[in-house]
Amino acid sequence: MATQDYDLVVIGSGAAGGMAAWNLTRKGAKVLMLEAGEKYERSHFWSHVKPWEARERRRRGERSPAFESLPLRESPYETPAGQSFLLRRVWGVGGKTNIWGRVSLRYGDLNFTEPAIDGWEIPWPVRYRDIAPYYDNVERLIGVCGGDDDSKFLPGSRHHLPPPNLRCGEVLLRKGAARAGYKVVRGRRAVLTQDHNGRAKCHYCGACGRGCDIGAFFNSPDYLLADAFATGNLTLRENAIVSHILTGDDGKANGVRYFERLTGEERTEPAKRVVVAASTVDSTRILLNSKSSAHPNGIGNGSDVIGRYLCEQFRFHVFAFAPQLYGRPSTNDDGISGGHIYIPRFESPEEKRGYLRGFGIQLWGIGCGSNAQFAERLPGFGLELKKEVRKRYPALIQMHPYGEVLPYRDNRITVDGTHHDRFGVPTIRIEYKLGENERKMIPRMYDVVEEMLHSMKAEPLPYKRGELDELGSAIHEHGTCRMGDDPKKSALNGYMQMHEVPNVFVVDGSGFPTPTEKNPTLSILAFAWRATDHMAEQMRLGNV
Ligand SMILES: Cc1cc2nc3c(=O)[nH]c(=O)nc-3n(C[C@H](O)[C@H](O)[C@H](O)COP(=O)(O)OP(=O)(O)OC[C@H]3O[C@@H](n4cnc5c(N)ncnc54)[C@H](O)[C@@H]3O)c2cc1C
Ligand code: SF4
Repeated sequence: MATQDYDLVVIGSGAAGGMAAWNLTRKGAKVLMLEAGEKYERSHFWSHVKPWEARERRRRGERSPAFESLPLRESPYETPAGQSFLLRRVWGVGGKTNIWGRVSLRYGDLNFTEPAIDGWEIPWPVRYRDIAPYYDNVERLIGVCGGDDDSKFLPGSRHHLPPPNLRCGEVLLRKGAARAGYKVVRGRRAVLTQDHNGRAKCHYCGACGRGCDIGAFFNSPDYLLADAFATGNLTLRENAIVSHILTGDDGKANGVRYFERLTGEERTEPAKRVVVAASTVDSTRILLNSKSSAHPNGIGNGSDVIGRYLCEQFRFHVFAFAPQLYGRPSTNDDGISGGHIYIPRFESPEEKRGYLRGFGIQLWGIGCGSNAQFAERLPGFGLELKKEVRKRYPALIQMHPYGEVLPYRDNRITVDGTHHDRFGVPTIRIEYKLGENERKMIPRMYDVVEEMLHSMKAEPLPYKRGELDELGSAIHEHGTCRMGDDPKKSALNGYMQMHEVPNVFVVDGSGFPTPTEKNPTLSILAFAWRATDHMAEQMRLGNV
């Protein structure tokens, strides 16, 4: 084994791992970060490459960074027949934060208390008041734009940067929704609408999905890892795919095993402490594969909850046109890319609805976009079709509701099949389906969308009520290593520290007992900050 130079090992460099490294290195800890992928070079981003130029570049053999294309052969997964799950992984420095959608919504106290109110599975061990100071810290650090239109479902912030102006279609939708009794708020997004902490503001090019070449939206490499490197306390080992956490006779972690991605060489690294942050699914795989005589069911899994209770949101999309905007001249509606508005959840647990929890509605893709994909869904052909497309182009409205999926014991990740990756490490099987509760929520979600479209006299493209995106499309996996007060029902305490293995912290979304109806990354950052504050204090006291 190599010499033990580090105070701890962090696995993964995305939102969770980046935050852990940032917080612990500034407190003086020597951190080794093991990351499955490698750095994306800013100079290789294709943020401003136009479609025709991209074609030319490809012809010349050039490639943009492969943000989305983790080849399945790298880490295959299986699902039962007829039960697919779309797993999107970004293996590279910064993980999914390189291309995420930047929607940054605080969980409200209701999100934390609701499981205790309705009794579905275990309560959160944390309340809003515990995490609110960390939301403040994160927002000050990374910069989140938004309004002051807060509600009990969506708490606000004193630290929001100014929101961008609304697009024409967004103004109409807001009016229509208000007439139907629904509140539309300013989008809350981790995009800099003014210079912030030495970083340049967004120039509204709308290319965020290809990576921001000036770093105007939060991403782990620019906002967290750069500072961590500056302390001199961070060592990053790229292309290091962690397979196992190793334990000693006392059951505590004492090392990690990993494989060199490019050569296939197997290595071990001693570790006094381990922070697991490989994103929900990959963290769960590592934990379940880390079997030993002390942990025959996977590390820290005496409760048999690790791998179970996989949950996120389900979603669908409805496309429509605002006739008031037919035929108006096209404008540059790129903005900060994605929605400048959001419809928060509005249903309280006290209301009799026939289902638990609720949904919010995202509203990206409104106005003149970079293409007119809706054209393929219009009838007709030739000149008439072209005219129709041109007429409708500025009038596009899109609604994307996200509903909370309850945590179910049998929605789970396992590693006990016969499949292995190219290093011989067991791969995962994902079993995931919706339950009765979600099926009852779907018609109500369609009703609400239709009420709003009707109120603004919008003309929808044909859709089929009840149709959903493939499960997994929300890309917000949670629950498979959940926190809680009861060690028989949870793997982590409220500080994301393993009940059974105190020198292991799991700081990504796998620790969240419920997914809520909201996007999680702001919360992942806040919880990882809080967890690593606790870890640093426990290290100072000599407890871990
Ligand atoms: C297109 C898209 C849009 C999104 N939009 C939003 C949004 O609007 N709002 C929002 O809140 N969230 C959004 N998300 C989700 C968001 O990106 C994630 O919640 C967030 O990145 C999770 O952080 P993480 O650190 O857990 O995982 P990641 O950011 O994925 O980082 C995990 C890291 O671990 C590394 N890793 C994996 N396995 C191993 C291993 N075995 N060994 C070593 N390293 C490993 C990976 O390479 C990666 O760098 C979006 C995601 C995508 C893809
Ligand atoms: S819209 Fe703004 S944040 Fe997005 S890529 Fe362009 S400059 Fe960056």
